Amino acid sequence: MRTLIVEDELELRRAIAQALLEEGFAVDLAADGKSGLIKAQAWDYDAIVLDLMLPIKSGWEFLQELRKTKSTPVLILSARSEVPDRVRGLNAGADDYLVKPFSVNEMVARVRSLIRRAAGVASSILQFNDIVVNLANRTVYKANELVALTAREYALVELLALHRGKLISRTMIYEHIFGEDDDSLSNLVDVHVSHIRKKLGADFIETRRGQGYLIHD
Ligand code: CA
Repeated sequence: MRTLIVEDELELRRAIAQALLEEGFAVDLAADGKSGLIKAQAWDYDAIVLDLMLPIKSGWEFLQELRKTKSTPVLILSARSEVPDRVRGLNAGADDYLVKPFSVNEMVARVRSLIRRAAGVASSILQFNDIVVNLANRTVYKANELVALTAREYALVELLALHRGKLISRTMIYEHIFGEDDDSLSNLVDVHVSHIRKKLGADFIETRRGQGYLIHD
């Protein structure tokens, strides 16, 4: 899942990025509201972590403009804990709100929950015949046996599982599992898919030639 962090405090931006990267997210960064908005409008991020007090363009302005075209889930970060600010953020189109200082674990959990909700998935456990994908702890079981997947393989399974029943194009896969700083060769998706099939069974992911991939509901 690909996320955008819009935060002007370098240390905090790094800490948030580190936490999300460790949890298998692809991460893009912006240090002000304007450059953040350009990225947010250009890509379909799975979630955005947005500071409110930002240079050039504030978090409120960012949200207002973003919501004209995109429904990307947004988690607001703010040093202010007053209720009116929270209400203003939620009214402006934020999906959740976290008051600084916060625990990065809680932040990651909230980002995950926003992504699940946006995909219309209520539970963090998804089952496909004998395969169980646990979104909360990022594990995959086949016939009750834990299957060791690489971070990329898991990210691909997670993306297809969240959008089960829908055809996901290669372009979408690149946009959602690789960040702006990732070097990726165009054949990588095929390689990941073939590794996943070896581990989880040939039928788990269906390939539609020239169109993309899907996991059946
Ligand atoms: Ca700030």
